Amino acid sequence: MDCREVQQKFIPFIDDELNIEELDAFLEHLETCQECREEYEIYYTLIMGMRYLDANETSVQFHIDPGQKLRSAADYLMKYRILHIEKLLLLVALCIGMLLIF
Ligand SMILES: [Zn+2]
Repeated sequence: MDCREVQQKFIPFIDDELNIEELDAFLEHLETCQECREEYEIYYTLIMGMRYLDANETSVQFHIDPGQKLRSAADYLMKYRILHIEKLLLLVALCIGMLLIF
């Protein structure tokens, strides 16, 4: 994913609309690219600020910290990976079990 692609994904990211592969590439790029990271932080603050004003009430959670959003996304990705690995291990265990039975 290059800078242009990443910057197009700011809004889908904020709205939690990226799939796992996109999220992975997105986070990886932000970790290594200072420029996109700064851009993202400005975007995030701007969008959340606008939404907060639009909503005009406290029902919308207002997180001004763009780093928090990144961390929770990274957490989610890690949990997803662990789950994925667990599933694979289970599958392998099942296969071995089948081999042992037959
Ligand atoms: Zn970049």
